[in-house]
Amino acid sequence: GSLLVAEGLRKSYGPTPALDGADFSIHAGEVVAVMGPSGSGKSTLLHCLAGIVRPDAGSVRYGGQELSTLSDARRSALRRGEFGFVFQFGQLVPELTCLENTALPLRLNGVRRKDAEARAAQWLERLEVAAIADRRPGEVSGGQGQRVAVARSLVTGPRVLFADEPTGALDSLNGERVMQLLTDAARDANAAVVLVTHEPRVAAYSDREVVVRDGKARDMAGVG
Ligand code: ADP
Repeated sequence: GSLLVAEGLRKSYGPTPALDGADFSIHAGEVVAVMGPSGSGKSTLLHCLAGIVRPDAGSVRYGGQELSTLSDARRSALRRGEFGFVFQFGQLVPELTCLENTALPLRLNGVRRKDAEARAAQWLERLEVAAIADRRPGEVSGGQGQRVAVARSLVTGPRVLFADEPTGALDSLNGERVMQLLTDAARDANAAVVLVTHEPRVAAYSDREVVVRDGKARDMAGVG
């Protein structure tokens, strides 16, 4: 069955709806690309799916639980435990090394420093950035920084990885390398990936594409 299912999502910030009847579903371990032009509602869809934004109408169910019925505390626990996030700009903490950045989600979940850093080191290895573990984000390239952000997003063993334009700040060669590593690592970890992008070359790494237009999403499961 589906891991995450959204039906009839509507969300407005002003007179024009950002989401105007969006359906979406993803199975465990699947990589789905959410495509569409700028301003079509892709990020709003992702934020609703991840329980960051509350839709005005419609439902989001994760593992059978309706997100809107959960307490704020339970919803944040879900985000910290079951979900991982990668954004366009890695949003690494500048004062921490790449290793410390990668270990941070585990530290926040109460894992001891030594264990957290050992697991973080394995993920940096997996993303082929072990060599820069002791550098700060300001001392690494954009592509290396995004690989660290991917390592950090997977270190807690999430079931769903939300990636919003993860290669948007990279040139196409680095972007493709990051996508290859991200999708391989997520598949190894059996994490589903919700990938927001407007670039067909990036979407090509997905199993399936969902197109958002004017806030309406067409989930093409079983169609193509
Ligand atoms: P996309 O990710 O496809 O570029 P978004 O979901 O970011 O689209 O935005 C959809 C529409 O909602 C746009 O018109 C955008 O300006 C508007 N919007 C998104 N987030 C906000 C917000 N926090 N406040 C006001 N308007 C927003």
